[in-house]
Amino acid sequence: MQDLNIAVLGAGVIGITTAVELQKQFRNAKINVIADKFGEDTTSAVAAGIFRPGTGFMGPSKDITQKWVNDSYYYWDDIRRSVEGPNAGVAEISGYLFSSEFKEIVKNHYLEKLLPIYRRTTEEELKLCKGDWKYGTFFTTVVTQNSYYLPWSTKKFLAAGGNILEKKVNYFSDVANDYNVVVNCTGLGAKALCSDNQLVPIRGQVIKVKAPWIKTFFYGNYDTYILPGLDSVTLGGTRQYESYDKSVNKYDGLSIKERCEEFVPSLRGAEVIAHKVGLRPHRTPVRVEKEVLNLNGNKVNIVHNYGHGGYGVTTAPGTSLYAVGLVKEMLMGNCKL
Ligand SMILES: Cc1cc2nc3c(=O)[nH]c(=O)nc-3n(C[C@H](O)[C@H](O)[C@H](O)COP(=O)(O)OP(=O)(O)OC[C@H]3O[C@@H](n4cnc5c(N)ncnc54)[C@H](O)[C@@H]3O)c2cc1C
Repeated sequence: MQDLNIAVLGAGVIGITTAVELQKQFRNAKINVIADKFGEDTTSAVAAGIFRPGTGFMGPSKDITQKWVNDSYYYWDDIRRSVEGPNAGVAEISGYLFSSEFKEIVKNHYLEKLLPIYRRTTEEELKLCKGDWKYGTFFTTVVTQNSYYLPWSTKKFLAAGGNILEKKVNYFSDVANDYNVVVNCTGLGAKALCSDNQLVPIRGQVIKVKAPWIKTFFYGNYDTYILPGLDSVTLGGTRQYESYDKSVNKYDGLSIKERCEEFVPSLRGAEVIAHKVGLRPHRTPVRVEKEVLNLNGNKVNIVHNYGHGGYGVTTAPGTSLYAVGLVKEMLMGNCKL
């Protein structure tokens, strides 16, 4: 029987979560994570990390997508309940989603049956923040701060015998010969790697501030949000479709500050830690599927896991478990499992 070698391309929240799950299910495999950017340099590090899939988030079918969401929630919540929760950057959080115009915006079909606390706001709660709020939802969920989670899970991966290689992969043929299967978790990098025109960036700019008095999250109109993490609060934001601009825009920053301070005036005293920009890898449907590539007569097994848009932290565990299942299907009968 031959040894089993698996490559995971990408070291963001999707790649690292997938690599850790592969280790659990293929105990004798040699697993390499290959990426050109790590930690703070990834899109994952820009995210606030709240567990809240958008209503438009979609996998191959409604049932599979709901399973991804459910599996993800239980995965994060198990870490949150464990002694490792604070080290992993996973915590419980409650808050409000308000709208002054649209009833539909405050309803989330993925969350209403899943979260233990999910309800419409009362009339009194609609007056908690400045603004003419007509509709609202209150819910309790989890938040994962990637400045903790990525190092924590990377340490786990290395301790269990995993390897990390720093390298840009321009073509699958660069790595094809060395691995039984390649799991592609390259986020927006998959656009070039797979010539995937369905994958587009949605640019997001945020401000990370120190405001330990903010314990509740708030979403308001026009992408205005205030999301507390473990040791910082993320103020947002922007959603600019097909913008590839990774630089901080001064005017976006001013607009975010003004909108958030208007919404929650106590933020006026908050110390700014950093302005950050990330390009959300948006694709409908999110691509978690098998592909056998024929490269000059050599067959290469690929499992794709990319295109999570603004919900990659939310759904990393569920999509990773699904991707690991696909790896199993591809390898069945070929290698020592
Ligand atoms: C402002 C903002 C706020 C957000 N807030 C939230 C939130 O609250 N909740 C939520 O769930 N999501 C949120 N997101 C979305 C989330 O950040 C993304 O969905 C997630 O980070 C995608 O993870 P990823 O691992 O696919 O991509 P990335 O983090 O971009 O990682 C991709 C990895 O692939 C590697 N790579 C790419 N191409 C190559 C190549 N050719 N060769 C080698 N390596 C390669 C990169 O180096 C990197 O390691 C937010 C995003 C933004 C921008």
